[in-house]
Amino acid sequence: MIVVMSKFATESDVKAVTDRLVADGFQVHVSTGVERTVIGVIGEETERVVRLSSMQAVDQVMPVRRPYKLVSREFHPDNSVVRVGNVQFGGERVVVIAGPCAVESREQVMQAADFVHGLGIPVLRGGAYKPRTSPYSFQGMGVEGLKILAEARDRYGLMVVTEAVDRESLHHVQEWADLIQIGARNMQNFELLKAVGQVRKPVLLKRGLSATVDEWLMAAEYIAAHGNTDIILCERGIRTYETKTRNTLDLSVVPVVKQLSHLPVIIDPSHSTGQWNWVTPMARAAVAAGADGLIIEAHPNPAEALSDGPQSLNFPHLAELFESVDRIAQVIGRSV
Ligand code: PEP
Ligand code: MN
Repeated sequence: MIVVMSKFATESDVKAVTDRLVADGFQVHVSTGVERTVIGVIGEETERVVRLSSMQAVDQVMPVRRPYKLVSREFHPDNSVVRVGNVQFGGERVVVIAGPCAVESREQVMQAADFVHGLGIPVLRGGAYKPRTSPYSFQGMGVEGLKILAEARDRYGLMVVTEAVDRESLHHVQEWADLIQIGARNMQNFELLKAVGQVRKPVLLKRGLSATVDEWLMAAEYIAAHGNTDIILCERGIRTYETKTRNTLDLSVVPVVKQLSHLPVIIDPSHSTGQWNWVTPMARAAVAAGADGLIIEAHPNPAEALSDGPQSLNFPHLAELFESVDRIAQVIGRSV
């Protein structure tokens, strides 16, 4: 249920309502907008909430129509801004994340971090735990890789995002990273979603390979329901009948998800296209569509990459991408 306070409600009116709800055993989420305050109410017994509409300071009491509550726009009408250190996702800035698919060596990460930092890109990516299609492919450096990422963060003042694939890796990732990635293949790993919901670090939740928007938002709801509402959604392409591209980038989810949810949405044009020279055009389109950020794979030498070389940009191409998406961002009143 949602309790919409009157425009004239004071802070103490809001407190009176929330106190009453909490005393009745409900969980409340207060969202203070410019115009009015909306109180999201989680709990079973709706009749007691409906009765609040008789209070003068309450404008209306409405049910949340969607199966997801905490992440829905109805529950929280304003855009959420998710802070990763000093970097804000969901604000005016379009946040670019770049770096290799996988952490391969200290030297490779430092080269990437040096270049990314030099361009002014604020967040470095790199997987230390790699969910690979083949068990014979490089599986990642594990904790050693996380330490390399943390060293790059400290040296260059970058924020670091890396993937957790299970509870054990989550335990390490939360210690070393600034933003925890839940990959496409784990989007419906509900135990992992519950575990990351209990962590006090922001989460980058990728859309599953064949997940509908509602399934994706329900995955986000799992995380939020377990206590962590700092969630950034990432579209990374879905499986369709088309095989020319690695996946099909569903760019329409940007306006769709923004209508349904208050969470920031970013786009991964690397895993969706699967080929480096299609990455920049789709990155530009993503920014034009209103995405709050981009996550881009870039490698000092893509031909030698241990994973996802064909879709990785070399550094000159990353610089071109960054410069061109900045120009698109400015057209719509944003910047990178
Ligand atoms: C990745 O970002 O390296 C990755 C494995 O992504 P996804 O989960 O989208 O395939
Ligand atoms: Mn990859």
